[in-house]
Amino acid sequence: KLSSVFLSNTNHEEDQPSHLQLKDPSIPIAQNLPRFAEPAQRYCPAGVYEVVEDAEGPRFQINAQNCVHCKTCDIKDPAQNITWVVPEGGGGPNYPNM
Ligand code: SF4
Repeated sequence: KLSSVFLSNTNHEEDQPSHLQLKDPSIPIAQNLPRFAEPAQRYCPAGVYEVVEDAEGPRFQINAQNCVHCKTCDIKDPAQNITWVVPEGGGGPNYPNM
């Protein structure tokens, strides 16, 4: 997955606010993980969402830099908790031959 993300020339400015927003940041771990094993880890084609095991327990990590703007997460999250907003400065994949 991640080598394909690299080939898409995806880039976002490092210091911009995340364009992937959670309405309720507790839902991925509190609801989606026990009920559905947090499906965002699998449906996102760019590996943006990860559940990371910390000393305090699981943590939901968003690697927004890798997002290829397919908007699957905006539609498919079982809690409708993820909102995709337009990134700043034309960031995202760059397909030079399209
Ligand atoms: S828009 Fe697509 S690529 Fe970006 S985080 Fe959502 S599912 Fe992943």
